[in-house]
Amino acid sequence: MTTASDVIVVGAGLAGLSAATRLHRTGVRVIVLEADDDVGGRVRTDEVDGFRLDRGFQVLLPAYPAVRRLITEDDLQLRKFTRGTIATLPDGHRWLAGPWHGLPAIRGLAQFAMHHPGDALRMTRLVLRDALAPNSVVRKDAQRTTAEEFMRWGLSASTIEEVLRPFLAGVFLDPALNTSSRLFHLLWRSFLRGGGALPAHGMQTLPRSLAAGLPTETIRTGITVDEVTDGGVRTSSGEHLTANAVIVATDGDAASRLLPGIEAPEWHAVTTFYYRADTAPLRSPTLLLDGTTDLLLNTAVISEIAPEYAPEGSSLIAASVPGRSDVHLEARVRERLTRIYRTDTSEWELLHAYAVPRALPVFPAGAPLRRPVRVSDGRYVCGDHRDTPSIQGALVSGQRAARAVLADLPGR
Ligand SMILES: Cc1cc2nc3c(=O)[nH]c(=O)nc-3n(C[C@H](O)[C@H](O)[C@H](O)COP(=O)(O)OP(=O)(O)OC[C@H]3O[C@@H](n4cnc5c(N)ncnc54)[C@H](O)[C@@H]3O)c2cc1C
Repeated sequence: MTTASDVIVVGAGLAGLSAATRLHRTGVRVIVLEADDDVGGRVRTDEVDGFRLDRGFQVLLPAYPAVRRLITEDDLQLRKFTRGTIATLPDGHRWLAGPWHGLPAIRGLAQFAMHHPGDALRMTRLVLRDALAPNSVVRKDAQRTTAEEFMRWGLSASTIEEVLRPFLAGVFLDPALNTSSRLFHLLWRSFLRGGGALPAHGMQTLPRSLAAGLPTETIRTGITVDEVTDGGVRTSSGEHLTANAVIVATDGDAASRLLPGIEAPEWHAVTTFYYRADTAPLRSPTLLLDGTTDLLLNTAVISEIAPEYAPEGSSLIAASVPGRSDVHLEARVRERLTRIYRTDTSEWELLHAYAVPRALPVFPAGAPLRRPVRVSDGRYVCGDHRDTPSIQGALVSGQRAARAVLADLPGR
């Protein structure tokens, strides 16, 4: 088969779909070639016995500017997390959420202020700064890791270890918090402005909503690109497809194989365990953190956030171990969940464990917020390895690559 189109996009993850959307809206003929059997890349949702299981627990931040720009909120039917968290401490739980969440939150905030008055003040300043400061301030590169940033802010070791490390390990999948402080401030700002949410029918609603805006013949799944040629791409079945421009929108590893000069990133891993229980161990849409062991568990009763994730009469619990790709941690995870939820978990059914060795590209102190998307004549690259390692970064990189193509296409 030989196909001529203006632009070929390799990869139907968020970056590729974002690029294709922009090109299509501008009247460019575009096709998207995807190796897998469906769109989404790292944002896929499996249906298992009536449960929706995201391939690794993810949280959508509705305040991500690119999400607001590109995706209609009505398509997502967002179900929101509590704005705040419950930290597991050696002697019990501490709610850290707005006082409007009721007595446990009021008590948790009062205890925090009593035990760590300095930290309460510093956290308030940090919240106000990141929520209100102009973009230029928040985006400024201090060349520091997130761990160094917390030291600079004077936060105590116990606040870091009990709350900030487990929370951010779950976000960056980097337990050491070596991730750039710049990324921390940007993500924290999005958390503060819009909280966290899940689409009612799974995270894959996000790429599906973008794909729905493209003509059906645009996306071809089950096609692996082996080579970017001078005039297009060659697929693993030997077909040559021609185009004026090719955008490689794969993950960083595949991009480095397809395009000379693109460096493969280092990766952070994560393992997510999903359980079915007869009753919800916590009747609240709130993330629980456990900094008391090296697992740094992040867990939530997903069906309390989005009831659509579980069939009637069952609860769905997710527990993620950031930084590790190892399903053999299950026994330890279950033991911790017994303590965190203070309930017998022996009857919980393990629905699935997702070990994801390449979940997020490493983003160290000093890393640029933007890497070039134009590689050479007619060749472009996008993906979260070109921007920030996040949904926002993937979407923005696709927009940038599409803009670069539009600027270069003859006759435009
Ligand atoms: C478990 C997990 C949790 C996460 N949690 C969050 C979170 O809470 N918040 C957040 O903002 N971000 C989170 N992320 C990150 C976010 O999902 C990614 O940054 C984003 O989805 C990356 O999109 P992408 O399009 O750049 O790459 P990908 O999603 O990797 O898409 C690349 C696509 O290219 C295809 N492909 C590869 N090679 C070829 C080839 N040769 N030919 C054809 N197709 C090819 C792949 O099949 C894939 O579909 C998480 C990621 C994971 C895995």
